[in-house]
Amino acid sequence: MSTTITHWVDGAPFEGTSGQLADVTNPATGAVSGRVVLASERDAQHVIACASAAATGWASTSIARRTQVMFAFRELLNARKDELAAIITAEHGKVHSDAVGEIARGLEVVEFACGVGHLLKGSHSDNASTGVDVHSRREALGVVGIISPFNFPAMVPMWFFPVAIAAGNAVVLKPSEKDPSAALWLAALWTEAGLPDGVFNVLQGDKVAVDALLDSPEVASISFVGSTPIAQYVYERASRSGKRVQALGGAKNHMVVLGDADLDLAADAAVNAGFGSAGERCMAISVLVAIDHVADDLVDRIAQRARTLVIGDGATASTEAGAKEADMGPLVTRAHRDRVAGLIASGEEAGAKVVLDGREVQARGEADGFWLGPTIFDHVSTEMEIYTEEIFGPVLSVIRVASYDEAVALVNANPYGNGTAVFTNDGGAAKRFETDVQVGMIGINVPVPVPVAYYSFGGWKRSLFGDTHAHGVEGVHFFTRGKVVTSRWIDPSDRPEGGLELGFPRND
Ligand code: NAD
Repeated sequence: MSTTITHWVDGAPFEGTSGQLADVTNPATGAVSGRVVLASERDAQHVIACASAAATGWASTSIARRTQVMFAFRELLNARKDELAAIITAEHGKVHSDAVGEIARGLEVVEFACGVGHLLKGSHSDNASTGVDVHSRREALGVVGIISPFNFPAMVPMWFFPVAIAAGNAVVLKPSEKDPSAALWLAALWTEAGLPDGVFNVLQGDKVAVDALLDSPEVASISFVGSTPIAQYVYERASRSGKRVQALGGAKNHMVVLGDADLDLAADAAVNAGFGSAGERCMAISVLVAIDHVADDLVDRIAQRARTLVIGDGATASTEAGAKEADMGPLVTRAHRDRVAGLIASGEEAGAKVVLDGREVQARGEADGFWLGPTIFDHVSTEMEIYTEEIFGPVLSVIRVASYDEAVALVNANPYGNGTAVFTNDGGAAKRFETDVQVGMIGINVPVPVPVAYYSFGGWKRSLFGDTHAHGVEGVHFFTRGKVVTSRWIDPSDRPEGGLELGFPRND
């Protein structure tokens, strides 16, 4: 039976008035599992207006009370994360353990935001000028918009909303229409945690909902994560209407394996980072850059491991008792699966060597699931479409280079700059790599270097439009505005002789 997936506003579900709905499918079966409402502009205005009405009261709620709500939300989410993971698996397709992992990374940001008392502390300078004190303070922005992609329906929104809410803002979250239920579940959890109605809202929809957020004068900022063309569009349109914007885009992440690396460690890492979550991660490794003399051996080791992966339905209920959970689930939609299969065909036609072909996968699941197994291409060159396009699927391309310098030049010539990794036992080379590459997040013998919550997440070049990364101190700054207050309290008995003085204050 298919259910209606609604908006969430003022602490309750809201069906909206558009009458427009889109199918949501279970990628492991191909069956329609629900229908999500798509907002009209009027629906969007209603949701934004409710958030706006709640924003002032929440911003003036004490830090102590806001912290209590954050802790309550943290406890509830931690206790019920399996429930949310099952929702993610049913709409996204990633296996249960991976869905739990995504929630764990989101929880880290909630825990970071529980320290909001510390994070919002201003500074104070006593007697900065004679008898004059100066202090700084940070204030909430008001209503903030978050627009998220399909690939992390819980974690990506949680890069932003814990910090935004803890800092005193009201949130309108626009999730991906491909897997919209996680956001709704999180909204109900906020209500249970004691967050006042209207502070966390979910607006379901497509471009109509996004454009309404980008243009609304009541929305102060936009945090977007998705593909590069849409990130650029969002950045330009929202900036034009005077908003603060951080728009995180696509990626093509390179893992460089130097000649002295531990090849077993590198092969394990390439398989985890290339095929985990079916490659639908913005930090997935999609290009392996191998120094020539280790390339044959490395590709063999990666292929041996990739052949052992179990592809199947990631829901715990569909894993037979005693059987190993699938390593990799299906792709998110049939259209996306077919696009990735088409790119694999283009790589073959362009002359790359097919070491492993995911189109021939035997999946443990229903025939109509959106299955694709791990694919490995060797001898890939930079003009091939499998290199120039962000594939966002379980496809690993190997490019062979003669030297460290050639590897770094390749990474830096790529238009994206989200993540990269180097595998080596040479500390000097690793240190040099860290300085040489023009990429926002770097792993040294770590293939998916997603920063912990108290650092900030974000790429360079066409992987980020705007200049503020997510969470950490940058996130706190993004969701607050600074003020500096200069004050003088004059004791009447101490009033300087002469009274009025029109010159600039003297510091003596
Ligand atoms: P997407 O760009 O298609 O969609 C992202 C959001 O934008 C969704 O909410 C969607 O409804 C909305 N949207 C789509 N088309 C729109 C349009 N024409 N106008 C206005 N809004 C529109 O991305 P996706 O397919 O959901 O997610 C995958 C992409 O996200 C990949 O490119 C991936 O690299 C990227 N991503 C990046 C990061 C990062 O940290 N840089 C993290 C996760 C995902």
